[in-house]
Amino acid sequence: MIQKCIVCGKEYDIDDIRYTCECGGLLEIKYDYESIKEKVSKESLRKREIGVWRYLDYLPVKDPKKIVTLHEGGTPLYKCDNLAKELGLKELYVKNEGANPTGSFKDRGMTMGVTRANELGVNIVGCASTGNTSASLAAYSARSNKKCIVLLPSGNVALGKLAQAMFYGAKVIQINGNFDDALLMVRKLAEEGKLYLLNSVNPFRLEGQKTIGFEICDQLNWEVPDRVILPVGNAGNISAIWKGFKEFKETGITDKLPKMTGIQAEGAKPIVEAFKKGQKTIVPEKHPETIATAIRIGNPVNYPKALDAIYSSGGLAESVTDEEIVEAQKLLARKEGIFVEPASAASIAGLIKLIEMDAIDRDEKIVCITTGHGLKDPDAAIRASERPIEIECDMDVLHSIINEE
Ligand SMILES: *Cc1c(COP(=O)(O)O)cnc(C)c1O
Ligand SMILES: [Zn+2]
Repeated sequence: MIQKCIVCGKEYDIDDIRYTCECGGLLEIKYDYESIKEKVSKESLRKREIGVWRYLDYLPVKDPKKIVTLHEGGTPLYKCDNLAKELGLKELYVKNEGANPTGSFKDRGMTMGVTRANELGVNIVGCASTGNTSASLAAYSARSNKKCIVLLPSGNVALGKLAQAMFYGAKVIQINGNFDDALLMVRKLAEEGKLYLLNSVNPFRLEGQKTIGFEICDQLNWEVPDRVILPVGNAGNISAIWKGFKEFKETGITDKLPKMTGIQAEGAKPIVEAFKKGQKTIVPEKHPETIATAIRIGNPVNYPKALDAIYSSGGLAESVTDEEIVEAQKLLARKEGIFVEPASAASIAGLIKLIEMDAIDRDEKIVCITTGHGLKDPDAAIRASERPIEIECDMDVLHSIINEE
């Protein structure tokens, strides 16, 4: 196991505490895949309970006793026949990451990230967050007796996420700026040695998140979907999941790779713009805006990894409007009984748009990842809904209303 720069190739010892290379490049964890291949089989994997830690052999842990877990992962992969029929698709699945312990996929990253902090003997952890990262880190910090500091953008943090971060006992600091500003500030604190940083620039967090890719194959009985569609904010998740699919192939568990398809919001789409121009660098969006606060990010830290995932898998990047996001959020709830937060619905909105554009084939086996639970952002859900009907306690009135239907 080593940490390796994706730009210059410089290698660092696995025990070094660093977030990026000397050259500024992002780091990635590399393994001896031959020895994993010898040790692991489909049958041996199935001996452990489904979830992040089923895949321990693929994770950078030296002492399993240091693992900090709330039983993350093992989220349902729903076959969505109603929605598939509505959209004229052959085979559609939703991987619902809202079913994680704190209600988003961030828990997969944090079980790994906080385990790493434990192995390093670190007592103070921190992050910048649009909400879910802070909720998750706060929970795993509590579970492992660590102090947790979170920086949030002022306003714009969904109510459920804010409630979680405060309630799990984190020190919650709202800054008068956006997520990108908050991340710059907390990265400075990390450089000063004030805390261990658990944003997705930390490659250990992404190792936990790559298990989404493992689980999708596992739940499809070791088949690989043709395409995976997910929302993209800071772009860690799409990078992580792509790494997971590649590692399963490299170690002989699967034999193909899916097309990675990233969806951004119209008001925060630097990766989509780079993709449409065929470029490998982005122009940051200074004033990101969208109802999907979890992807309201203008300067995605992991863009080099994300663009590589999209380009090398033959995937796509597309953007959707806030209206399309809300429509898709409702459609998923009403056709399939799956309630997700707005950012998550971007994957469904993106799917709908790409079908309409004829950019994807209706015969593909498609998995959309819904990243966070609908109750995270109750305000957005209520705003998008009709108000309840209010009546007196009168059976005649009640009958007349029921009969209207
Ligand atoms: C964090 C988050 C995202 C964005 O993931 P990135 O790894 O930053 O691209 C999308 N949806 C939800 C619900 C999130 O919490
Ligand atoms: Zn480097």
